[in-house]
Amino acid sequence: MSKLAISGGTKAVTTELKDLFKWPVVNKAMEKAVVQVLREGKMSGDDITKEFERKFADWHGVKYGLGFNNGTASLHGAFFGIGLGCGDEVIAPSSTYWATCLPALSLGCRIVFADIHPDTLCIDPKDIEKRITQRTKAIVVVHYLGMPADMDPIMAIAKKYKLKVIEDVSHAHGALYKGRMVGSIGDAAGFSLMTCKSFATGEAGIMLTNDRKVYERAIMFGFYERHKDVQDPELQQGAGIPWGGCKYRMHQMSAAVGLEQLKKYPQEMAEIDKAMNYFWDLLEGVPGIRAHRPSKGSNTTMGGWFAANGLYVPEELGGLSVTRFCEAVSAEGARGVAPGGCNNPLHLHPLFNTLDIYKHGKPTNSAYLPKTPVPTQSLPVAEGIQVRTFAIPGFKHFRKKIIKEHAEAFKKVAENYKELLAGDKGNNLSGKWGLANRK
Ligand SMILES: *Cc1c(COP(=O)(O)O)cnc(C)c1O
Repeated sequence: MSKLAISGGTKAVTTELKDLFKWPVVNKAMEKAVVQVLREGKMSGDDITKEFERKFADWHGVKYGLGFNNGTASLHGAFFGIGLGCGDEVIAPSSTYWATCLPALSLGCRIVFADIHPDTLCIDPKDIEKRITQRTKAIVVVHYLGMPADMDPIMAIAKKYKLKVIEDVSHAHGALYKGRMVGSIGDAAGFSLMTCKSFATGEAGIMLTNDRKVYERAIMFGFYERHKDVQDPELQQGAGIPWGGCKYRMHQMSAAVGLEQLKKYPQEMAEIDKAMNYFWDLLEGVPGIRAHRPSKGSNTTMGGWFAANGLYVPEELGGLSVTRFCEAVSAEGARGVAPGGCNNPLHLHPLFNTLDIYKHGKPTNSAYLPKTPVPTQSLPVAEGIQVRTFAIPGFKHFRKKIIKEHAEAFKKVAENYKELLAGDKGNNLSGKWGLANRK
């Protein structure tokens, strides 16, 4: 067996990378579309945005699409759209980007966190029911790091307790859950379309819903020039000024890019899927590491493999830290490998526990509870997930030779883990609220 590169052996990855990881892919048609918006002075209009909304919604088989200036705003609109307000509770996964739930806090809601499942890294349906109180009104799920959340049991719980479900599809554009498009299953969905995401248009977001009322309420909340499209006479009484005091209109340069992105994204997604599955197929059975992907034959797919991860099982590698493991794989020349590939658990942040943000005279997240303060929740899977996950290379093209070399880098390190135990200083992965451990 060849010696590990970290201790002076030859590297596993030798082929030139070229544009293997380059993202996003901006083509001539996008450039042309943006210039046209500029030349026609349509940056702040909504004709191109409406066309984008129509086509994006059609792609999902959903009735209404509403463009936003970013994904955070689309979730804010969705939370208001489904009717959330002061004192309502929203259940959210702890391991996610803050925008999944924080906009609901600004509506006066309390965010209650649920644990994640260690294999899917998405909200664990089994943990949701424990979090339900008389105040619970909604569950927000994230199809996290490309993986569809387990929607069937989640929708069943929602039905049983009469809760609304919001899907945050910022990580899994175009993914299928048992043959259905994610973002078309809950009551409403919010998508980030920012540059680093799989469906990349620049700063932009979109909300989808089949419910006319949700759609119209979201228009009332963050728009004013589109109030003429609102039919509900009750809502019309407040037309002309955005109820949320927010102006969330999408930039039409982003809408124009989005229209072009719609044409090429399915092919891009298919190629990424082929490349990533090829990588994981090569690593099937290697000790210490597992793929983070749906099981085969489930008709559930990854949507663009945003910020793709592997699952780490240190017990199979003599307790080797994921940090040391990733150092050794990176030394083999593999790119994009880093320990702790998840967001830090939000339920431990002071914002959701002790901070009085809106001058309630007590912590904002428990402002409407009869008894405060409330003890911080304990969610063991989310709290321990960083040392059990690692960022993997996000291949954008199906190039067998170099993907094989990357898989070889992981295999070589896993098979020679004993050489690494002596120099292992352990993990130190705390304090990151974005996906900042990633390279
Ligand atoms: C990126 C992201 C958002 C927010 O989208 P922006 O476009 O950055 O405002 C929301 N939820 C998740 C899970 C995200 O990763």
